[in-house]
Amino acid sequence: MRAAIVVLPLAVLPWVAPAFWVTLANYIGLYSMIALGLVLLTGVAGQTSFGQAAFVGIGAYVTAYLTTRHAFSPWLTLAIGLAVTGLVALFLGFITLRMRGHYLPLATIAWGISLYYVFGNLEALGGHTGLSGIPALSFAGIALKDERRYYYLIWIVTLLALWATHNLLDSRSGRAVRALKGGLDMVEAFGVDAARLKIVIFVYAALLAAISGWLYAHLQRFVNPTPFGINQGIEYLFMAVVGGAGSVWGAVVGATVITLLKEWLQDLLPALLGRQGNFELVVFGILMVLILQFARDGVWQWIARVLPRPRPQQVVPANALASRPRRVADGPLLEVQRVRKQFGGLVAVDDLSFTVDRGEIVGLIGPNGAGKSTTFALISGALPLTAGRVLLHGESIGSRPPYEIARRGLGRTFQHVKLIGTMSVLDNVAIGAYLRGRSGVVRAALKLDRAEEAQVRSEAARAITRVGLAAHLHAAAGSLALGQQRIVEIARALASDPTLLLLDEPAAGLRYLEKQALATLLRSLKAEGMTILLVEHDMEFVMGVTDRLVVMHFGEKLAEGNPGEIQRNAAVREAYLGGVA
Ligand code: ADP
Ligand code: MG
Repeated sequence: MRAAIVVLPLAVLPWVAPAFWVTLANYIGLYSMIALGLVLLTGVAGQTSFGQAAFVGIGAYVTAYLTTRHAFSPWLTLAIGLAVTGLVALFLGFITLRMRGHYLPLATIAWGISLYYVFGNLEALGGHTGLSGIPALSFAGIALKDERRYYYLIWIVTLLALWATHNLLDSRSGRAVRALKGGLDMVEAFGVDAARLKIVIFVYAALLAAISGWLYAHLQRFVNPTPFGINQGIEYLFMAVVGGAGSVWGAVVGATVITLLKEWLQDLLPALLGRQGNFELVVFGILMVLILQFARDGVWQWIARVLPRPRPQQVVPANALASRPRRVADGPLLEVQRVRKQFGGLVAVDDLSFTVDRGEIVGLIGPNGAGKSTTFALISGALPLTAGRVLLHGESIGSRPPYEIARRGLGRTFQHVKLIGTMSVLDNVAIGAYLRGRSGVVRAALKLDRAEEAQVRSEAARAITRVGLAAHLHAAAGSLALGQQRIVEIARALASDPTLLLLDEPAAGLRYLEKQALATLLRSLKAEGMTILLVEHDMEFVMGVTDRLVVMHFGEKLAEGNPGEIQRNAAVREAYLGGVA
């Protein structure tokens, strides 16, 4: 429905509009593709790039150079341009995407400027004069010289890019990309190699920019470095932000608003001020500040409000996903051996040792600050060990990245809930099933992953039903009560089909009946052979569900035993009463 609202006017525009409008529409299409990459990279994944214009330049210059100097076919230079851009983006992404905070945007400015000077200073690329005489494209014997014909090429490619990106966001990888903003800890805990995923998205955005550059070169029939500089890079980011960096349509809206506004202001402002100059940039600057201050989600959110709402996709019953392979080894499932964690002078975990056997529910308890959450972080790989060993199925996993430990069968929840509040409960839980799917970015973009997606969604729905939240399947996770959000985290961990489940304070914020339901759930999981290690403050709850307890105090193990023994232990009583006093 939404698509029809956009596609119909687009199809008739060249027939009804004057040539000038067709030219503008061509540019809007070209810019939309670049802004689309930024919606994904910056809006969804949270990686700001000012340097996209440089990738447009690579796409444009590769075809300009090879077609004018070496008479290559433009269709071949498209492939070569994409390959060159992909390699450059891979290299730049590899060195810059590890940077955090403001270093990443600064780095993108740096290479944006450098590539601009490369274009301007290479003799072979015509220096600042550029290259002219680029041939027109022809397709199936039709020369696309006329702007009206070129319009259809540009907009078919743009709509395909929108379709592919929309598909991508609604997939296994897309959910992981959407979750990146919530911090890397969460996605990595479910097996996502976040560093790799960021590079994939970065390359995807760069390739969209390069396609736009290729189309631009054959539309203009000449190139020079000016449109590929940092100013233009900033303008593309404007487009993504103004349009709405969270939605694929935001790219088209942003490209349209900025292009039309620029056109209008370039006429209006010099006439008003009586002088020539790029005054529109000042207005854009102010507009950007206002948007960031008052309308973070951009212009698209206002348009989306008046359009018919897309209905949530129903979950259709599908075959269960295959269980993940389990290692069978003798001995305990988890062995924590003299594990130590120091934060500067503070010893948070002090030579702690304990084991968890298959099918056991073990509680890790102790006063606040005893080191329980830190111990979880050491087991799950969220923090590196200072010393000691952690073995899962007899294999040493200590200090490995969390996504590798997740692949070995660990599922977890977080003490401070890490859900993506704007995503549905179903999508959040589906992130848990990441390791049980295989479809990559390309399959997802082409919508070839639907059978697997149906399985993932039905598996996620099953996990949600199991924890008793079936009524909230399509609700935004952020709209649930905090206690329920913790339960959603358990469903997400279950969707990963874990061998060992780590639960950090699962009962916090739950009401009495909800706690009883949780205890019942944990017991039934145990009956199915699940192994659980949990941290919990509610003593009645802990004593009721665990087989064994490990008590921590100031980072050390104070006691270990079954619930009865721990309740009678004098040192434990002392520690808890001391903690209260
Ligand atoms: P618990 O979960 O048992 O309440 P934690 O494991 O969260 O305790 O914390 C143990 C100790 O380590 C506390 O004194 C806490 O302040 C400290 N600590 C935890 N994480 C960090 C960190 N990232 N940097 C410095 N100190 C930390
Ligand atoms: Mg804690």
